[in-house]
Amino acid sequence: MRDCIFCKIVEKEIPATVIYEDDDVLVFMDIGPIIKGHALVISKKHYDPVTETPDEMLAKLHVTAKRIAQAQMNGFGADGVNIMQNNGTAAGQEVPHIHVHVIPRFSDDGHHWNWNAKKYNDFDEMKKLADKLREQL
Ligand code: AMP
Ligand code: ZN
Repeated sequence: MRDCIFCKIVEKEIPATVIYEDDDVLVFMDIGPIIKGHALVISKKHYDPVTETPDEMLAKLHVTAKRIAQAQMNGFGADGVNIMQNNGTAAGQEVPHIHVHVIPRFSDDGHHWNWNAKKYNDFDEMKKLADKLREQL
């Protein structure tokens, strides 16, 4: 797709430090790592967002992310791994081409997600939201 930076990486129009590739997916180092060693798993074909991505491709992306996670644990001695996938600018997505972040984590890496857990006003508020979701499935 024109003007998509990740499509340009797939087409080798711009460089990337590739870790793995096959017919469906490409894995390369994120140039702005949350933790050094942070990798991105992308589809070779342009899809976005997750809801428009075929199930088979999503499965492939996540199985590949699992392999990269194992490689980070074996290769870097990572103690844990965050696997993340953002959709939409409201969710912090910067590149609108499906990709899975695989971020190695170390007990002493000092990184903290701003995971600010909120509270529902009451049980009914949560239940109404659950009802809305159930209706859509
Ligand atoms: P997201 O916010 O989920 O869309 O993540 C996009 C990610 O792509 C960010 O972590 C960027 O650091 C990364 N990124 C953007 N351009 C490049 C590039 N040319 N090579 C490698 N990573 C990139
Ligand atoms: Zn693209």
